[in-house]
Amino acid sequence: MSSLVDELESSVGPGGCLHRPEELLVYECDALTLHSATPTAVVLPRSREEVRSVVSICRAHAVPFVPRGTGTGLSGGAIANDGAVIVECSRMTRILEINAEDRYAIVEPGVINADLSKATFEHGLFYAPDPSSQLACAIGGNVAENAGGPHTLKYGTTTNHVLALELVLPDASVVQFGSRSGFATGYDLVGAVVGSEGTLGIVTQVTVRLKSIPERVETLLASFPDVVTACRAVGGIIEAGLTPAALEIIDRSTIAAVEASVYAAGLPEDAGAVLIIELDGAAVSLPRQLERVEQICARAGAAQVDVAADESERQRFWRARKGAFGAMGRLAPDLYVHDAVVPRNKLPEVLDEICAIGDRHGLTLSNVFHAGDGNLHPNISFDRRDPDTLRRVIAAGSEILECCVRAGGVITGEHGVGNEKRDFMHLVFSEADMDAMRRFRDCFNPEGVCNPGKIFPTTRFCVESNPKARGYDRVEFD
Ligand SMILES: Cc1cc2nc3c(=O)[nH]c(=O)nc-3n(C[C@H](O)[C@H](O)[C@H](O)COP(=O)(O)OP(=O)(O)OC[C@H]3O[C@@H](n4cnc5c(N)ncnc54)[C@H](O)[C@@H]3O)c2cc1C
Repeated sequence: MSSLVDELESSVGPGGCLHRPEELLVYECDALTLHSATPTAVVLPRSREEVRSVVSICRAHAVPFVPRGTGTGLSGGAIANDGAVIVECSRMTRILEINAEDRYAIVEPGVINADLSKATFEHGLFYAPDPSSQLACAIGGNVAENAGGPHTLKYGTTTNHVLALELVLPDASVVQFGSRSGFATGYDLVGAVVGSEGTLGIVTQVTVRLKSIPERVETLLASFPDVVTACRAVGGIIEAGLTPAALEIIDRSTIAAVEASVYAAGLPEDAGAVLIIELDGAAVSLPRQLERVEQICARAGAAQVDVAADESERQRFWRARKGAFGAMGRLAPDLYVHDAVVPRNKLPEVLDEICAIGDRHGLTLSNVFHAGDGNLHPNISFDRRDPDTLRRVIAAGSEILECCVRAGGVITGEHGVGNEKRDFMHLVFSEADMDAMRRFRDCFNPEGVCNPGKIFPTTRFCVESNPKARGYDRVEFD
C-alpha cells in the first residue's frame, strides 16, 4: 500500500495525495450521508497529464478509482466502493477560454458552477444550468450527473449545454468528443458521457454553451393555501402556453425551516405553499406574461402574489429557495433528499400519496421542488442514530419511488443513481435494457475499475428481499 501512496504522491506533487485516516474521513461520503466507504487515498491532480498518471498507477496496482468533483452529490456517486482511490478534480479550476462571439467557454472540471457565470457576466453571457448547490458544486460533477436546477424548465439540463468534452479513459488514453460549434459527426458520445456518473472515465475538460443574459427578468412569489393548489397553478401556467424560466414550490414545513434560518426571506409563514415564478426574455414581452401569470394564480386560489420590486428582492426569493436544503439542517441531524420525476399533471395526487407515506411511517417530510418539471424532492428529516427511525426512512423512500414510477415517472431527475438507487433500476428498466447499458459501459470501462458498483444493480430481485445488499449495513433488519 505504501508503494501505491508513494507513487501517487510523486505523480501529483506535495500536498496532492491524502492518505492519513483523519484526511480520508471527510471523503467517506458525499451529501447523501446514508452511504459511506473509506477510500484508500485521495489524489488531487492539477492537469490531464496528472490524471493519466494517477489512472496508470491505480491500474498497475489493480486498485479501482473514483472521479470526484466537490462531493455535493446526493446519490452516493462519488464514494469509494471497493477501497477505491478518489481522484478529486478540485485543483483543476482554470477557465481556459471564454468566446463571446461563438458563445462558448472551455473549462477544467473543477470550476465551480457559479464561478463560471460570474466570469462570463462581463460579456453579457451566462451558463444556464444552476443547481441549487451552484456555489459549491463543480462542472465535472454537473456533467457526470447531468445536473438540473430551478431553470431547467426553460433552459434544459446540463446535457443541453455541453458542446464537447475530453475524457481520460480507464486505460489512461485520452479521447475528445463533440465540437465547439455544437455540430458533431457520428455517435453522440458527448450525450452518452453526460449523466454517466463517472463510470466511463474522468472528464478533464468541458466546452459549454453560453447564453446571453435576458433583457428583462420578472420574479413572482405567490402564496397558496396548500401544495396541491400551488400545483394546479403550475399546470394552469403551462397549459396557457407560457414557458417561465422557473416554477418552484416550497411547502409549509420548508418555509418554517427557511424562516428560522440564515436564509430567511420573509416568506409568508401562514401559507401552505409558495410558488416562485420567474419569467425572462425580451422586455416588451414580459408585462403581458406577468399579467397572465397573476390571473392564473388568482384563479387557482393564490392568497397573494408579489412581484420582486428589484434585483435585491429577487435575490431574496432565490436565497430562500436555494438555501432550503441547508435550512432543513435545523430540523434534525440527518436529511434524506429524495429525487424523482412524475408527469406534471400527476403532481397533486402523487404529493398527496407521498405525504400519506410520510405519515404512515411517522416521519417528518417536507417538499421543495422543481414543480414545472414535475421533479419532486421529498425530504425526510431524521436521526440516523435511532435504528428504528432509519428503517422507516428507508422503507418510506422505497415506497416514494414506487409511487412515482406507478404514476408514470422515473426514479431520478437530477441526482443520479449512484449507490443509492442502483437496486431500484428494475422499476424502470428491463433486464434487456440493463444489459444494453452494461455492454455500453464495458466499451469504455471493461473491467469496471472506474467508479465501481455505481448505477448497476447489485441484486437481480426486489430490494426488499435483500436490503443489506444496498449497503445499509448499519441497519438491523429482521
Ligand atoms: C444543497 C444541495 C442542493 C442541490 N441542488 C441540486 C439541483 O438543484 N440540481 C441538481 O442537479 N443537483 C443538485 N444537487 C446535487 C449535486 O450538487 C449535483 O449532483 C452536482 O452536479 C454534483 O457535483 P459535484 O461536483 O459535487 O460532484 P460529486 O458529488 O463530487 O460527484 C458526483 C458524480 O460525478 C462524478 N464525477 C465528478 N467529477 C467527475 C469528473 N471530472 N469526471 C467524471 N465523473 C465525475 C462522480 O464520480 C460522481 O458519480 C444538490 C446538492 C446539494 C447538497
